[in-house]
Amino acid sequence: MKDDGDFLTDTLNLIGSACDLAKIDDRHRLLLTSVARRLSVEYPLQMDDGSLRIIRGYRFQHNSARGPLKGGIRIAPAVTEAEVSALAMLMSLKCAVLGIPYGGAKGGIIVDTSTLSKGELERLCRGYVRAIYPVIGPDVDIPAPDMNVTPEAMGWMTDEYERLAGRHMPSSFTGKPPVLGGSRGRVTAVAWGGIFIMEEVERSQGEHYRTYAVQGFGNVGRNMALILHKKNRKVVAVSDSKGGVFRGEGLDIHALVQHKETTGSVVGFPGADNITNQDLLQLGVDVLVPAAKEDQINEKNAGHINARVVLCLANGPVDRKGAEILGARGIVVVPDILANGGGVVVSYLEWIQGREGLYWNGSEVSLKLKDVMKRAYRAVHDAAIEYHTDMYSAAYALGVRNIVEAMKARSM
Ligand code: NAD
Repeated sequence: MKDDGDFLTDTLNLIGSACDLAKIDDRHRLLLTSVARRLSVEYPLQMDDGSLRIIRGYRFQHNSARGPLKGGIRIAPAVTEAEVSALAMLMSLKCAVLGIPYGGAKGGIIVDTSTLSKGELERLCRGYVRAIYPVIGPDVDIPAPDMNVTPEAMGWMTDEYERLAGRHMPSSFTGKPPVLGGSRGRVTAVAWGGIFIMEEVERSQGEHYRTYAVQGFGNVGRNMALILHKKNRKVVAVSDSKGGVFRGEGLDIHALVQHKETTGSVVGFPGADNITNQDLLQLGVDVLVPAAKEDQINEKNAGHINARVVLCLANGPVDRKGAEILGARGIVVVPDILANGGGVVVSYLEWIQGREGLYWNGSEVSLKLKDVMKRAYRAVHDAAIEYHTDMYSAAYALGVRNIVEAMKARSM
């Protein structure tokens, strides 16, 4: 396993290759590979037993040429500055590929949420907002959820922001519960975005993919598996951090959700075989969906992947070298900055609704999401033809090109 410094190096290399392809000049390459603002904070957390802990958090803002900054908050013990930098860059590229008017940012809080009570978690979230308050806001930087962040937590953060601002500002955060101005469809947005992209992949290849393996069974992976199940696709394997399960005839995903709720893991699901995460990645399925974390497919294991399509719903699950090996083996890699864009698209819709005082229903949100995802797929497809390359490289080239176009329009 590589470390987060490698994740950042890979991301910088990806941007470098994309700049080569899109013929970006040195000045704009430099701007694209730097993070415009890095806020690092340490703030107190009052524990239930009366003691005080100092918590470290980050908010990094990569590039705002295309609009206000946007990006999730990740809460995990292993969060690092390098990881947050890479994720902020990927957000800029993602928004540029999707054609939505945002720049990229990312937040992180270094803590293991499983060690906190609910009260401590709420104080952790509220404290983070107080610490980063000077650099965020609806026209500046709009945080969203990432790993280990629930709609309830986004609700606490929104409320804290509004208390500090002294007025309702629902567009200060996205991913909130609907009762606080959250959008319909936000929780399932990444998964539905991935489904809409797969429909386009199937259409352009004249294929119908039936069997799926999904790595990760959190917000993204679980919802993806549920939707695939509903659409009569066979999900033969899923996994979480404790391991995976396989059943050749397909898993009953609803029963599996129950099993995970009861036992804490998908492992040990009755009627299925236990497998490791590496086993899952190497299964001979039509579509492999990495939906857990970065750097899962790289130089070491890309030669052993047996899927026909890899749909990257996690951020950075396939590194550049891994993508090259998969591409050379004829495996289609749908890159994260296209495939998992549904989250930021529905966040964008939530932001608009908050600003306008609108409230769209689920079908309206779904139609708008579908429209943006399909247009983005077309744009990447066209870029692949223009640059004589695959979808993976084309998406990054399109991303850097769109950001540079905005920088140039600002005389940057
Ligand atoms: P989550 O915390 O809800 O779920 C993560 C899941 O991955 C959990 O089931 C966990 O057990 C599992 N996992 C962790 N390590 C693993 C490993 N080594 N092998 C297999 N499974 C492992 O997080 P999420 O919101 O579902 O995010 C998953 C990925 O999707 C992340 O890369 C995140 O950045 C990305 N993403 C999330 C959103 C969003 O809106 N939530 C949007 C875009 C991208």
